[in-house]
Amino acid sequence: MPVCGNRARHAEGTPVTHASIAAIRACFLEEEVWPCSWLVELTNPEDGESTYVECGGVTWYLPGNRGYACENGHDHIYDQVRADERWDYAADPEEAGLLAGRGVRPVAMDGGPIDVDPGAFRYAAGLPG
Ligand SMILES: [Zn+2]
Ligand SMILES: [Zn+2]
Repeated sequence: MPVCGNRARHAEGTPVTHASIAAIRACFLEEEVWPCSWLVELTNPEDGESTYVECGGVTWYLPGNRGYACENGHDHIYDQVRADERWDYAADPEEAGLLAGRGVRPVAMDGGPIDVDPGAFRYAAGLPG
């Protein structure tokens, strides 16, 4: 991961890395950045226990007032933008199927593609209205 040399934001002596060049650019250029509050699962390798911690990645506003994104790929696109563009987030293939069946393009929580459950698709497509 590239080391960020932005002394204005990382005053302490230890080098800070970001996940991508885009994140470093944002760290330098964006007026406002903040730590991502997305909960990520951590598994303890010793006992297999899961805990949830905040991602903490550098987060910045996307151009065009669309929302904001974190260096680790956690997109937060505003409801209104998603509605205007006819897409929405889906947590699993079943939810993706329910969206797709209503003509709304499903997108994975990280902004990538997601599988569509055909049963859920048929169910949603068959609903009146
Ligand atoms: Zn930085
Ligand atoms: Zn994040």
